[in-house]
Amino acid sequence: MARYTGPVCRLCRTEQRKLFLKGNRCKSDKCPINRKALPPGKAPKSRQGKQSEYAVQLREKQRLKRTYGLLETQFRNTFEKALRMPGKTGENLFALLERRLDTVVLRLRFSVSRAQARQLVLHGHVSVNGKRVNVPSFILKQGDRVELLASGKKLTLVKDALQEVGRAGVMPWLEVDPDKMSGRFASIPHRQDITDMADIREQLVVELYSK
Ligand code: SF4
Repeated sequence: MARYTGPVCRLCRTEQRKLFLKGNRCKSDKCPINRKALPPGKAPKSRQGKQSEYAVQLREKQRLKRTYGLLETQFRNTFEKALRMPGKTGENLFALLERRLDTVVLRLRFSVSRAQARQLVLHGHVSVNGKRVNVPSFILKQGDRVELLASGKKLTLVKDALQEVGRAGVMPWLEVDPDKMSGRFASIPHRQDITDMADIREQLVVELYSK
């Protein structure tokens, strides 16, 4: 599966949002977003003109897509799937993104970044309901159990990442057992529960793709 391989902090600077692509560095003072770095090639706000409606919608789509680490085709396909589901498309889109295995591995704090979560899955360290799954885009169902296999449980990066459970816990739709290095996707998240994405206006993404 294709993925972005360029400089990752540049993506955060473009979106003016932390995408947590560099693990612990993202929480340190070295993070350019903490230092309020400007988007690449951008003049200070005082010298910028008004953005068009299209530009605002496009920016929001890029922010959401990059936050979940997807390329355009994967993101568009996820949107089309959300469109065919009953209910609000924007909420369905978030639910689908949160049901991805790489997202759940990150949210269960088995890793400190999405890239690391993706690697854990791709390298076959993760099982779903007792079966090894090595597809980061695998969509979980309510009640699915996600567990690290013996090879993953030995990894120092996982043990270090799991220490965050004691400090910050996990999102309300997940259950985690740090000792067993396993977790459960207990329920499909509601949009209002995804608090770290509260600043994203998914309606703009729906409007952009509906043109
Ligand atoms: Fe770089 Fe992480 Fe900060 Fe993004 S959040 S700018 S990846 S250090």
